[in-house]
Amino acid sequence: MKELTCEQMRQMLLCVADEIISQKPFLTEVDSKIGDGDHGIGMETGMKSVRTKLAAMTDETDIYRLLSESGRAMLMSMGGASGVIFGTMFLGGTKGKTPAATFDATKFTEWLSEGLAQVQLRGKAEVGDKTMVDALAPAVAAMRGYDGDELRVLLKRAEDAALEGVEATKNYRAKFGRAKSLMERAVGFQDAGATSVWLILRAMREYTEKIGEEQ
Ligand code: ADP
Ligand code: MG
Repeated sequence: MKELTCEQMRQMLLCVADEIISQKPFLTEVDSKIGDGDHGIGMETGMKSVRTKLAAMTDETDIYRLLSESGRAMLMSMGGASGVIFGTMFLGGTKGKTPAATFDATKFTEWLSEGLAQVQLRGKAEVGDKTMVDALAPAVAAMRGYDGDELRVLLKRAEDAALEGVEATKNYRAKFGRAKSLMERAVGFQDAGATSVWLILRAMREYTEKIGEEQ
């Protein structure tokens, strides 16, 4: 598929929310190795709020509003560093946009690129700091490097690059959060937020496969 409709984007985001909610135990386990173990709880709270928000947006005609309202729901419900970070990932690339009834590969890439830029502006994390940026930045780079127009391929590239990024976080020391105080003891463990980014992109890619089969 080359384009998502507004309703398809709403369904895609609902799939993302369901996936993250179902992965709460895994995310909590990942965070408990080097963080304070609350990442799964925070993400579950955020995604439940996203689900509630999206359930009331069945008549929405602008995809940017689905994305910005999802980001806002996370920002308001999760609190803490990750609420701002993950809220901004969804919200950052929606500012000042002309309403969009459909989303193609170009718009998708632009949205996530700008989201990444805003995340980095706010959180000041660079690649190698053992944060979600380690998954999001390579995912965005992979999307920018794809010049085709198949959303499934675009998202598969993003997902694969994000997973490589998650693996790479095992080699890094943390510059932010609880893991920072662990110094080299954090080495060997993956970052929880990077893991969430990978799961989000995987759920998006899986949705395009599901839709592809239906068409
Ligand atoms: P908290 O750090 O408040 O306990 P969570 O456990 O929910 O929040 O989320 C932690 C995740 O947030 C980390 O694994 C990391 O990926 C991400 N994170 C934290 N600080 C930043 C930052 N400044 N920039 C980007 N991501 C960050
Ligand atoms: Mg935590």
